[in-house]
Formats: sequence, structure tokens, C-alpha cells
Amino acid sequence: MQTEPNPQPPPSCDLVVVGGGILGLAVARELLARRPGAELCLLEREPELGAHQTGHTSGVIHAGIYYEPGSLKARLCVEGARELYAYCEQRGIETRRDGKLIVATEESELSRLDELERRGRANQVPGLRRVGAEEIEGIEPHATGIAALHSPATGVVDFREVAHAYAEDVRAAGGAVVTGCGVRALRPGNGGVEVEHDAGTTRASFVVTCAGAWSDRLAVAAGAPPEPRIVPFRGAYLRLRPERRELVRASIYPVPDPELPFLGAHLTRTIDGEILLGPSALMVGARDAYRLGRLRTRDLASTLAWPGTWRLAGRFWRTGAVELRRAASKRSYVNEARRFVPELSVRDVVGGPSGIRAQALDRDGRLVDDFVVHRTERALHVRNAPSPAATSSLALARLIADEAESEPA
Ligand SMILES: Cc1cc2nc3c(=O)[nH]c(=O)nc-3n(C[C@H](O)[C@H](O)[C@H](O)COP(=O)(O)OP(=O)(O)OC[C@H]3O[C@@H](n4cnc5c(N)ncnc54)[C@H](O)[C@@H]3O)c2cc1C
Repeated sequence: MQTEPNPQPPPSCDLVVVGGGILGLAVARELLARRPGAELCLLEREPELGAHQTGHTSGVIHAGIYYEPGSLKARLCVEGARELYAYCEQRGIETRRDGKLIVATEESELSRLDELERRGRANQVPGLRRVGAEEIEGIEPHATGIAALHSPATGVVDFREVAHAYAEDVRAAGGAVVTGCGVRALRPGNGGVEVEHDAGTTRASFVVTCAGAWSDRLAVAAGAPPEPRIVPFRGAYLRLRPERRELVRASIYPVPDPELPFLGAHLTRTIDGEILLGPSALMVGARDAYRLGRLRTRDLASTLAWPGTWRLAGRFWRTGAVELRRAASKRSYVNEARRFVPELSVRDVVGGPSGIRAQALDRDGRLVDDFVVHRTERALHVRNAPSPAATSSLALARLIADEAESEPA
């Protein structure tokens, strides 16, 4: 990835985008494509682009199986995946359409597998096929189950590399991408917004914030409703030892729990060829708790003061206990995956990377699964962009740009 000179933010410009994750960059790119010649500045707090969610995934390009037919998520995922493959091909970014198996191991999961099949077909997921127990081995020689769904169109990519390519597009269109420059406040007035940041202030006509795990902070300070609150969930992965990578050809997923917006801990061959097992989903005490023990008073206070946290804990304490056990013991984590890859043993894994999911939580303790945007004066805030937002980034960026353009001048 190319290292570009880091410009200074200008004193004024037409558009400011906050957040240099895959979504902020896709939005900046889309806005400039619509308004060639506009002055745009993207501000990212970290020294690197894609430093948070974007850079901490297993890199799965989802095909659109899980989402309710007709929903925005379904449409954006199917469209977004198609466009992302085309974009990567055009930009010479490696992708691999390895496919994935969603494996049912118990009778009780079959009705949920049926539902996933129905959704996938209705969403026109390319090549989706139901396979019986005997066919599983032909696709994934070390997997077992009683039935499965095979999605050959599911693939992998390095989303951080995609984010960098979007940044190049922004620069090529005349935009400035500034890293190491956090935005502290947005002050609307006199037909614009004063953006206060680490290097001073920039006056903009319009601002879009795509701040991931911090998306509620600027939005609420700028006058948006307090709901939903971001509660950080840590997703930890284990790595398979290189000599055991042959246990997994592509991606093997469990049938997900319909109560939760998580897909369940899965095995995935990443674009680099390593096999990750994960992610877990443990509520943590900091929005950057890449190290499990990290606590930040402000983040913790924000989580604990939110009524939804306690309602969620009341409903899902059992799930929380399982996640805690997984965090404490590789064995319990591996045992889950042994349901569909029985040869896997705790000796086959070592610690791996982790990501922090920006999980939006409503006041009633519901994990918000939909895409949420709010407007304040001269600004649009992306409040929730959960998985598969990296897959959907190009399609989602169009939707956000439509919203931004519909704002009266
Ligand atoms: C463990 C895990 C696995 C996932 N797996 C997949 C997957 O396989 N496929 C998929 O499609 N999706 C996946 N997702 C979801 C996907 O990663 C996210 O939906 C996507 O990356 C969201 O992008 P973003 O740009 O909104 O957020 P981020 O990448 O988190 O970017 C937000 C950026 O805003 C910056 N920022 C915040 N506040 C400020 C401020 N005040 N000033 C300046 N900058 C600021 C942050 O530093 C950050 O860089 C996964 C997520 C996690 C956590």
C-alpha cells in the first residue's frame, strides 16, 4: 500500500467527511464522483486509514444470504458484493471467490437452514445450493453436518486494501485525505459548519460523519438523538497453526442464532491464506479494546449509563456467560467449531487478531441490525453501519450520498 503525503486540512471547503474507514472513504469517493471539482476533505483521527473495524475483519465478501428479502441490507449486500468484485478486478486488488458452507449439525437447526435458503434464493444469491450430509465432504473434506447451504459466490478480500484504493480515488478526484486529525466538534451556523479538529478548524458547507465505534459522539454533540448508543463488542479470532490449515478449504459457518445479529464463530481462509476461527462477541469496556483488559472510563460510563445495556444483559446473560468462557478458554471456543470440524483440536490453534464491533443498542436493549442515519443542521451522521457494510460499501455510499444531497442547501 502506498504511503501518501499527509496534507493539512484546508481552512474551508465544500464537504468534510469524518472517518477514514471503508465507509467514510467510499462516501467521499461517491460525493466527488457526483460533484466533480467540489472541494472535499476527509479527516481520520488515526495515523492510518482503516485502523478500526475495516482493518480487523476476516475479510469476507458476503453474498447476501442472511438478510430479510426486500430489506435494505439484502439489496445493498447483493449489489455491493457484485460491485466490489468488479471494482477489485478493475483496480488489481486480489479477491478469491472460495465459497462458503453454512453447516447444520443438529435437527433443531434445519428449520433455520430452510429459512436461510429461502432468504438466499429470494435475494438471488448467485449459485446458492442446498447440500446433503454426503455432499459436505466433497466441498469441505474435514467438515461434517446433517445438511448445509453452499454459497460459491462468497469470497474474501483485504478490506484495508480496498479502503486504500478508495482513498487513492478521492485524491485523484482532487480531495484531501488527512490522517492523524481527529474531529472534536461540529458547530453549525451562517450557512455552514465549523469543524473543529486537531489541526484547527475547517469551515464546510456540509459534513458527513462515518465514525464507526464513535459514531454517536459527534452526532449527539451536534444535536442528534441519543439513541442508538454504541456499545463495543470485541470479536476475537484464533489462528490455525500453518500445518493444520488443510482442515479448511474456504469458509465454514454455523447456522446463526436468529436472536443475535452475529453470524456465529466460523472458520475462514483469509486472502493471505491463513485460517481464522472467530469472531467471538464480548461486550467490553473500551471502544478500542483490542487488548481484552483495556478500560476507558468514558466508554465504560457510556455503556453502563445506557438503559439498553442492562436490558440486553437481562435477556442475554446466558449468551454473555458463553462468550466470557470463550474469552477465558481456547478449548471452549474450539469445542464449538468441533461440531462442524471434528478433527480440530485445541493444539491446532494459537491466539489471533481481534476487532471491535461498533454495536448500536437501543434503549430497550435491542441490538440494532439496520443501517441508521441521522441529520443535524448541515450534517448527516451514519449511526450504525454493521456487517456487511464493508461488503456493501460502494452501494451504501450511494445511499448515503443520496441522503446528503437531499439536504436543503
Ligand atoms: C470482528 C469483525 C468482523 C467483521 N467481518 C466483516 C466481514 O467479514 N465482512 C463485512 O462486510 N463486514 C464485516 N464486518 C463489519 C465491517 O467491518 C464494518 O461494517 C465496516 O468496516 C464499517 O466501516 P466504517 O468505515 O463505518 O467503520 P470503521 O472502519 O470503524 O471506521 C470508522 C473510522 O472513523 C474514525 N473516527 C471516529 N471518530 C472520529 C473523529 N472524531 N474524528 C476523526 N475520525 C474519527 C475511526 O478512527 C475509524 O477509522 C466486521 C466487523 C467486525 C468488528
